[in-house]
Amino acid sequence: MTILAQPCPKNAAYIAPYTKSNISSSNNTNPSKNITGRASALGKITKSASKPVFKGLGDDFVILRSKACLRVKRFLLQDEACRLLPAERVNNCLKNRISKEKGVVVKYNKVTKTASYSNLQTCGSVWNCPVCAAKISEQRRSELKKGIAQHRKNGGYVYLLTLTNSHHFGDNLEQLMAGQKKALKYLWSDRKTKEHFAELGKVGHITANEVTHGKNGWHPHMHILLFFDAAVDIKALQKFIAEYWQHCCKKAKLKEPSLEHGCDITDGKFADRYVSKWGLEEEMTKGHIKKGREGGNTPFDLLRLSEAGCERSGRLFQQYAAAYKGKRQLSWSSGLKKLLLVEEVTDKEAAESEDEDSIEEQELALEIWRLILIYKKRGEVLKAIELDRLDNANRFDMLIEDLAQRYVIEYQDKIMRDADMISSRAEYLEQVEMS
Ligand SMILES: [Zn+2]
Repeated sequence: MTILAQPCPKNAAYIAPYTKSNISSSNNTNPSKNITGRASALGKITKSASKPVFKGLGDDFVILRSKACLRVKRFLLQDEACRLLPAERVNNCLKNRISKEKGVVVKYNKVTKTASYSNLQTCGSVWNCPVCAAKISEQRRSELKKGIAQHRKNGGYVYLLTLTNSHHFGDNLEQLMAGQKKALKYLWSDRKTKEHFAELGKVGHITANEVTHGKNGWHPHMHILLFFDAAVDIKALQKFIAEYWQHCCKKAKLKEPSLEHGCDITDGKFADRYVSKWGLEEEMTKGHIKKGREGGNTPFDLLRLSEAGCERSGRLFQQYAAAYKGKRQLSWSSGLKKLLLVEEVTDKEAAESEDEDSIEEQELALEIWRLILIYKKRGEVLKAIELDRLDNANRFDMLIEDLAQRYVIEYQDKIMRDADMISSRAEYLEQVEMS
């Protein structure tokens, strides 16, 4: 566990003011107040602070609270990913500052009524980080939506192809994925398939890799959106691709899929229940985030289970993270983005994007940020700030006070040792000066 670089003194009330809103905030019209509109020194927080009010606040409050709870879970899952992947960038994500010249900034959007952090590094990992994954996947989802809409506007048709191969418990995920990638390359580059797709009017495709883990071990599969300029006979296309896919898997030294289970095609417009539950765009981009069906766990299910104490799930998540490292979430075939007027945005850019309508409202002192990190309360802090804004209560103040008191109790020995050391050193220096 991280220890505060500058330990708290005996009494939590001596901790430095936890906001710097009274130091610098050009957007704050009343610099003497913090985000909750009250004086901001921790020493001034008392038990008489107003209690949260839950009644009579309407749907806004309920919706905001449930969204905030989901975000709290994402932060906690990110902490779990950090524990499982100590060498990965996710460990710095929304923890370390970008500029060391200032503290962690809290922003607030008055329209959406949401708070967020600024001046913090992001890892941009769609596979390892539940917080970045939410933002990046949303960006990818909107790109797909835009692309599909543009293609249909042009008079085109979209179909969803799912490919997999036979697999068994104990199969190595990285090897399975490498084999599938090779088999797919064979499928696209085969002369006969190229000719056939050209005859059907194929203009491009988008590939998404997805994996679940179930009783038969890892189940990697690919969702591929096929873009045609005319309607196709789904049954005939499925038969054609299934036979070729079987051949390509064999060539890539993979276990051969059956004709029924290796390949599946659905109409993008009237997708089956598997797709309709999520919508076509989400099926393509949020496969590893959503909850698994039919007994299979998605990678973030494994993370959730690991956080709940399942060591095996934690090890499986580590295997998944190693297998997916450096992989792209979506691959668009050459020229398709340009054709469908979709701009290029990297994962890093998507993860770093900030809500432009949010206003900087306060700056958290470093000591307070460390407390928040030690007790894994990043999500709770934003939630408290948002709800306080709605009912003018004191959740944020009380939360920070609780953390400070907890710290003093849990680290009392260290605090006392440090205080003794400082005092002995002062005495020594005094003696040296006098002599
Ligand atoms: Zn991240």
